[in-house]
Amino acid sequence: MISSHYDVAVIGGGPAGMAAALAAREAGSKVILIEREARLGGVLKQCVHDGFGLLRFGERLTGPEYAYRYETLVRNTDITVATGSFVTRIGQDGGAFTAALVSRDGLRAVTAKSVVLATGCRERTAKQIGIHGTRPAGILTAGTAQYYVNILGKLPGKRCLVLGSGDIGLIMARRLTLEGASVLGVYEAKPTPGGLTRNVAQCLDDYDIPLYTSSTVTRVFGRNRLEAVEVSAVDAAMRPVPGTETVVECDCLLLSVGLIPENELAEKLGVPLGAGGGPVSDHNCMTLADGVFSCGNALHVSDLADYVSESAALAGARAASYRPGKRTLVFLQPDERFQIVSPQAIDGSRLTDDPVFFFRSATEKGRTTVRAELDGKVILEKRYSQLRPPEMERFSLPAGQLALTASSKLTLRMEDAV
Ligand SMILES: Cc1cc2nc3c(=O)[nH]c(=O)nc-3n(C[C@H](O)[C@H](O)[C@H](O)COP(=O)(O)OP(=O)(O)OC[C@H]3O[C@@H](n4cnc5c(N)ncnc54)[C@H](O)[C@@H]3O)c2cc1C
Repeated sequence: MISSHYDVAVIGGGPAGMAAALAAREAGSKVILIEREARLGGVLKQCVHDGFGLLRFGERLTGPEYAYRYETLVRNTDITVATGSFVTRIGQDGGAFTAALVSRDGLRAVTAKSVVLATGCRERTAKQIGIHGTRPAGILTAGTAQYYVNILGKLPGKRCLVLGSGDIGLIMARRLTLEGASVLGVYEAKPTPGGLTRNVAQCLDDYDIPLYTSSTVTRVFGRNRLEAVEVSAVDAAMRPVPGTETVVECDCLLLSVGLIPENELAEKLGVPLGAGGGPVSDHNCMTLADGVFSCGNALHVSDLADYVSESAALAGARAASYRPGKRTLVFLQPDERFQIVSPQAIDGSRLTDDPVFFFRSATEKGRTTVRAELDGKVILEKRYSQLRPPEMERFSLPAGQLALTASSKLTLRMEDAV
């Protein structure tokens, strides 16, 4: 088997992987960027709407434009780009990592001193939400429908219904309408929408597409092709309420019911995963396995590609400067009002800049103060005018006040602000 050696191996050529590879190269490392698809860009290749790049480039770009900007930067370096190469196995031997790449040329091995996992996320499927009824054609995830419409130029149905109000479902409700399909409604089991407020306004309200909250699809009908679905109201515990069933005729059901970080390779490396499905990691994006870094949607599902690029650049730079050594990890202790905080820990032994954290609230909240206390001393108080679970928020802690020892206690609290 042919084998080649690098300082940093980045797995996944989406916006996260490209930003990580660039940052590692800028830090002087010999870098390989490995992507299983034929082209770099990840999911952004199929996101033809605009809104990308406002933070990173100060411009409104489409997904392919944003990806192309990064690809051009990558191609202007001597980073080795291995597209059409699927990493099927990865392991650690001695101080080095070895990844097995399968491509049309066969099997090859790549070794590296550190690894950045930028493998993105995947969508929850019909099997994972267990809808009763037959299994006809016409039921697909919103991302698959996005691929059909935006890459293949094919319409998956003419009378469509969307289950789940995640951002991809909202974006596809608009896209299908623009392509001439009728979108009969978006059904959401929770009492509030699951996507960004701006997507509800721009993708549903602007196109008169109804949003039914506290409702779900309870049954599908159709032998070969989907013919109809049964929708029901749900109670506060999201259980269908008997007697509220209505049958809606449709030929296509799109599912937008959640994204799951893709971390099979991380698991092969023995990396512990956190509550959100991404690896537990420190503020340098290093997982609990030394030398293994994680970024982008593989680390935590982000709602802005610009945030993905930002955290991935940090992961790439830190992977480049990685040297084995003991870490002083202090884990944040958020209260129950936080749904997720990422990364989960600070490494006191490798703390240079103010560490940045992303979080989502567990419930909708009005004015809120987030307070961080280190060993009982307040080190951050930040106010937010509104918090919603779908909207990722961020804060940074002042590095100068983070004199950490192994027994330090770092708590995070949310309090109603007046
Ligand atoms: C289906 C879907 C649709 C989306 N649509 C939108 C949208 O319309 N608008 C929006 O703002 N955001 C959208 N997003 C969010 C968007 O994915 C992120 O903002 C951004 O693309 C995340 O970047 P990433 O690099 O972390 O992941 P990705 O873009 O998913 O890139 C990960 C890459 O890793 C590669 N990979 C994974 N495993 C391996 C392996 N073992 N070997 C080699 N390569 C591997 C994949 O092929 C992929 O190219 C969507 C996400 C999904 C999942």
